[in-house]
Amino acid sequence: MTLLPHNKPALGIEEEQAATKVIRSAWLAQGIEVESFENEFCEFIGLPYGHAVCVSSGTAALYLSLWSLNAQNKKIAFPVYTCSSLRHAVAMVGGIEVLIDVKEGTPNMDLDTLKRSEADIAIIPHMFGFPNDLSGIVGIDVIEDCAQALGAKVNGMYVGLHGRIGIYSFYATKLITTGGQGGMVISKDKSLIDSIRDYREFDCRKDANKRFNFQMTDLQGAIGRIQLRKLPGFLQRRHEIFGAYLNAGLPLMDIVNENSHPIRYRAVLITKYPQQIIKSLLNNKIKSIIPIEDWELLDKSELFPNALNLTKCTVSLPIYPLLSDYEVNKIISTVLN
Ligand SMILES: *Cc1c(COP(=O)(O)O)cnc(C)c1O
Repeated sequence: MTLLPHNKPALGIEEEQAATKVIRSAWLAQGIEVESFENEFCEFIGLPYGHAVCVSSGTAALYLSLWSLNAQNKKIAFPVYTCSSLRHAVAMVGGIEVLIDVKEGTPNMDLDTLKRSEADIAIIPHMFGFPNDLSGIVGIDVIEDCAQALGAKVNGMYVGLHGRIGIYSFYATKLITTGGQGGMVISKDKSLIDSIRDYREFDCRKDANKRFNFQMTDLQGAIGRIQLRKLPGFLQRRHEIFGAYLNAGLPLMDIVNENSHPIRYRAVLITKYPQQIIKSLLNNKIKSIIPIEDWELLDKSELFPNALNLTKCTVSLPIYPLLSDYEVNKIISTVLN
């Protein structure tokens, strides 16, 4: 039997057909498919057309968001427990790093520390699908990083709409993919999206403004459109699997709050013995990982004790739409043994 992967994109015949149609049309670069994907994303999130712009990756989306907020030489806060792309985007734009710990027992940025930080801008990821409630943050421009939380809600409103800007990643292992790489920026403030769109349309421009090629292709856009249509089903299946783990008594990290609706991007087991669990799963041909390891923290010093603690007591189990009930049960029985 082959190894059950920790993560796997859910691509099917519909994506194949959409990609084939683009290939046969001979229009591969950014065009009508990307534009339609942007419009359908606006419909999904609940924004008027023109308030979303497709880009080449989540990292590009972060960089362009920072750029649109004139972030150079500004203090930019972000958590130590997250994807390294946040640091890269801040460095690219020439911002000043302000690192923040996570709130104890959660994978999300401690917003009380943020409020005391004198940051000008904050990138706030909703880690593992758990939304961070941004109400109460004043005087800081917030970029919501929704790479792991597309479809999660706070106070009945999708994440991405609570800050000034929302960004998404469509990397292969995210909630939906545009075929391996891709990203999106949204904002209620259309002028920010217009400026990012202008930056992205780098070619054949008459003025000498700085721009760069951050475009998505129509091949990617066509796949993204199908994936977005399938998103509710994907989220439902993830929800079922998470529920099955909880019902079986697995001690999963969960943040219960009546105002927030998480989505189940990660199923993270809390355990004193992460290495033993990873090993016993592997012996049963199941791949699990430490979601963020100590060496991956953006600062691993004792200044960030909550983040460091998380690296020592967490194991991320497979949770994705293509997992069968049989596989889910096998994961449960292996962990419980
Ligand atoms: C994946 C991810 C990113 C980066 O997105 P890419 O598309 O891989 O560049 C940024 N932030 C978070 C929280 C992520 O999980």
